[in-house]
Amino acid sequence: MNVFIIHAHPEEKSFSTTLKNIAVEYFNEQGNEVVVSDLYAMKFNPVGGSNDFEELSNKEFFKYQLEQVNAFNNNLFTHEVKQEMEKFLKADLVILNFPLWWFSVPAILKGWVDRIFAMGFAYGAGKGVYDSGAFKNKKAFCCLTTGGPEAAYGSNGKNGNLETILYHINHGMLYFVGMQTLPPFVGFSPARKTDEERNEVIEKYKLYLKNIGNHQPIF
Ligand SMILES: Cc1cc2nc3c(=O)[nH]c(=O)nc-3n(C[C@H](O)[C@H](O)[C@H](O)COP(=O)(O)OP(=O)(O)OC[C@H]3O[C@@H](n4cnc5c(N)ncnc54)[C@H](O)[C@@H]3O)c2cc1C
Repeated sequence: MNVFIIHAHPEEKSFSTTLKNIAVEYFNEQGNEVVVSDLYAMKFNPVGGSNDFEELSNKEFFKYQLEQVNAFNNNLFTHEVKQEMEKFLKADLVILNFPLWWFSVPAILKGWVDRIFAMGFAYGAGKGVYDSGAFKNKKAFCCLTTGGPEAAYGSNGKNGNLETILYHINHGMLYFVGMQTLPPFVGFSPARKTDEERNEVIEKYKLYLKNIGNHQPIF
C-alpha cells in the first residue's frame, strides 16, 4: 500500500508531529511505501492563484477553476503543484495530519487543498464527485490534535460536536473528490495531558492504525 501523509505543524517536537512520525514508522514497518509532505518544512506556498500555472488561457480575467482545467488538459501546472499531484495519485491511503486551528486545518494545509485538488484533476470537467468521484479507490482520514478537551467537543460541549466541526474537511474535501473517508483520529488537548496520558494517546493511535482495514467510511 502507498501511504501519503500531508503534515501541517510548524514544530518538529510537537505532539502532532509525533503522531505523524508514529504513522510513518507503523506503515514502514508493515512494508508499505510512505511519502510525507511536511508543508512547513517544505515552505509550501499555500496561496493559490496565477502562480500555479506556467501559462494562462485568459490573461484579461483570471478565473481560477478554468485555469486549473486548462492546466490539467495542457500540462501547465507548475512543478510544485505537479509534484504534489503525483504523490497524491500514487496514494492508496491519504492522511491529513494537523492541529485544529480555528475549527479547521491550518491555512498552509487549506492552501494545499485549494491548489492540489484542482478542477479537472480532482473533480469537474467530466469527473464526478462523492461516490462517482475520481479517487473512490483511495481511503483518507484526518489525524488531528486539539487545544480543547474531549468534553468540549461532545454533543453538549461548549465548542459543539466535533463531527459537525470537521464536516467541511471530511465531507467537503476528502469525500467530495470521491475518497472513502474514515473516522478521524483525535488527540484531544495534548498540552494539558501528562506524559503518561500522552503515551496512552499514542498507543490508541497505533491501535487505530493497526485496524485501518476495519474502519468503515463515515459517509
Ligand atoms: C491559530 C490557532 C488556532 C487554534 N484554534 C483552535 C481551535 O479552534 N480549537 C481547539 O481546540 N484548539 C485550537 N488551537 C489549539 C491547537 O489545536 C493545539 O494547541 C494543538 O492542537 C495541540 O497540539 P500540538 O501538537 O501543537 O501540541 P504540543 O503543544 O506541541 O504538544 C503538547 C505536548 O506534547 C509533548 N510531546 C510531543 N511529543 C511527545 C511524545 N512522543 N510523548 C509525550 N509527549 C510528547 C510536547 O513536548 C508538548 O509538551 C489553536 C491554536 C492556534 C495556534
